Amino acid sequence: MAAGISGLVKIRSIWLAVDQSTVRPVKPQRPIRAYNGAMVIETFPVGLLQCNCTLAADTEHGEAIVIDPGDDIQRIHRRLTELGVTLRQIIITHAHIDHVGGALQLKRLTGAPILMHADDMPLLRMMEVQAGWLGVPTPETAPPDESLRESMVVGLTRYPATVLHTPGHTPGSVCLHFGTQKLLVAGDTLFAGTIGRTDLPGGNPQQILASIHNKLMLLPDQTRVLAGHGAETTLEREKATNPFLQRR
Ligand SMILES: [Zn+2]
Ligand SMILES: [Zn+2]
Repeated sequence: MAAGISGLVKIRSIWLAVDQSTVRPVKPQRPIRAYNGAMVIETFPVGLLQCNCTLAADTEHGEAIVIDPGDDIQRIHRRLTELGVTLRQIIITHAHIDHVGGALQLKRLTGAPILMHADDMPLLRMMEVQAGWLGVPTPETAPPDESLRESMVVGLTRYPATVLHTPGHTPGSVCLHFGTQKLLVAGDTLFAGTIGRTDLPGGNPQQILASIHNKLMLLPDQTRVLAGHGAETTLEREKATNPFLQRR
């Protein structure tokens, strides 16, 4: 399917879209250097839908994880090489094509296992359909090496993250909470000013609100949120201003 710039913008808006705040440009390659200087967190948009891929690395111990390598795998691989780190895990927040599309390619390049919640297996199996929604070639995928579960600890030895199962955008959506760093990688569950869409297969509007209220909103207010698309935010800001989170 031929698509000009306006066509691409349209596809992206339709895909993301509850409001325009999700399509604000993202500052590329914005590293957050945390605490003792050895943890590097870099979030950068990849692919047609500009999914925010996050690379977390412990440069002293030489290990890293990559969250949501939807596309641009050569670039991600190059960055791992530049940092001199070994990839330990490839973590998928949910099985939408823009988040999982490059996972198998990255696994082949690095040998790192892929971790994803099993409840998104039906979505992973319909990759051809997902590619059809966007008019892009179907990326090759494979079942994850391990299933993510609620409260599971993943990530780096010195900088672990806890898995929060947050269904609603998809049945197997997860967020990753780096407690010490007060950092949440939110996938497509929570965005700056909006929440994930729930009209795609497996989406559930009641579930996403329950996930956000019962899990994410219990985390400290100062928690920094790296959303699956668009600008970063904080839980405090979203509690105060996100129209979807105002309790009546
Ligand atoms: Zn999604
Ligand atoms: Zn997405």
